[in-house]
Amino acid sequence: KISLRAVEKSFGDTAVLRGIDLDVTDGEVITLIGASGSGKSTLLRCMNLLEPIDDGVIMFDGVDIAEPGLDADPIRRRIGMIFQSFNLFPHMSVVDNVALGPRKVLKTPKAEARSLARDLLVRLGLEARIDAYPDQLSGGQQQRVAIARSLAMEPEVMLLDEITSALDPELVGEVLDVVRDLKSRGMTMLFATHEMAFAREISDRVCFLHHGRILEQGTPTDIFGAPTEQRTQEFLQRVI
Ligand code: ATP
Ligand code: MG
Repeated sequence: KISLRAVEKSFGDTAVLRGIDLDVTDGEVITLIGASGSGKSTLLRCMNLLEPIDDGVIMFDGVDIAEPGLDADPIRRRIGMIFQSFNLFPHMSVVDNVALGPRKVLKTPKAEARSLARDLLVRLGLEARIDAYPDQLSGGQQQRVAIARSLAMEPEVMLLDEITSALDPELVGEVLDVVRDLKSRGMTMLFATHEMAFAREISDRVCFLHHGRILEQGTPTDIFGAPTEQRTQEFLQRVI
């Protein structure tokens, strides 16, 4: 589905991605782990074309989406991204937040977009909050609305960057339940996360990033049970 080859990215003199090769197949769930600053967010942002890369290719369905000058909007529609902060529109109700993208971008008629938004919100357990405003919701609810908003665009791939980091511990579970549901429906997903237990449970593959390189990758059993690289062992000892 997505293949990265020799992807490099620097900010000024700082090399942040230093030759990333990664293949994401349809329906696969991949987790990026690694120390703060290792490049996880930058990698996801480059895949969503929020940052231009300096070198390499990002193939998505046979097209190099890293080509300069390519229109990023159609790609971002197909590759959804969720962040730590929810970024909902405060002046719009929950259902309108979710219906906005389909209305504006996909030109879905208003009634149909709202009906689709309702269905998604019900599926994500937010039936009772459909007409609420974002500041009336808990963090976990807001994050689920953000996920619904992204799903409303019917993305083929979802990139999720520390989506539970801003939440109180008791609200993490409800967001992770939504992610489990997406996996069971076959959604292709890439996570950056510090939640090792979750990474272990949900991932088909775990990639350990170290200074802008994928130093080691494998099944959760491989990476958490028997990491071969000393850097991976040291990292896991620190965080688990
Ligand atoms: P964390 O676990 O803390 O989220 P991360 O693995 O996501 O870390 P990145 O956010 O990708 O790491 O950052 C990698 C490096 O790139 C860091 O040294 C960071 O300071 C730098 N960096 C990221 N974005 C920018 C930017 N817009 N301008 C300059 N430097 C940046
Ligand atoms: Mg990050």
